[in-house]
Amino acid sequence: MAAIRIYDELCKGMEECGLCLEVCPKKLFLPSENLNRKGYRPPRVNNLEACTQCQNCVIFCPDLAIMVEEKKPRKMVKK
Ligand code: SF4
Ligand code: SF4
Repeated sequence: MAAIRIYDELCKGMEECGLCLEVCPKKLFLPSENLNRKGYRPPRVNNLEACTQCQNCVIFCPDLAIMVEEKKPRKMVKK
């Protein structure tokens, strides 16, 4: 399962931007209940288990407000 981090204070708001929701193939973003200090409403993630770790939200967010950490089991490499 991915770990998604949203930096609320960098976000310019789902109403004003909303690109993360637009580009997410699973539509995992919802508007947060709280506003950030600039008065914008950042996203929150709904149903994290469905994240495909495609990184679209990270690539398209104009304010670098999202990070998705891939969680894959590590394979042992024999040398
Ligand atoms: S990594 Fe892909 S599936 Fe996961 S939240 Fe971002 S856009 Fe959606
Ligand atoms: S794409 Fe980035 S700036 Fe735009 S709403 Fe989503 S988190 Fe905020």
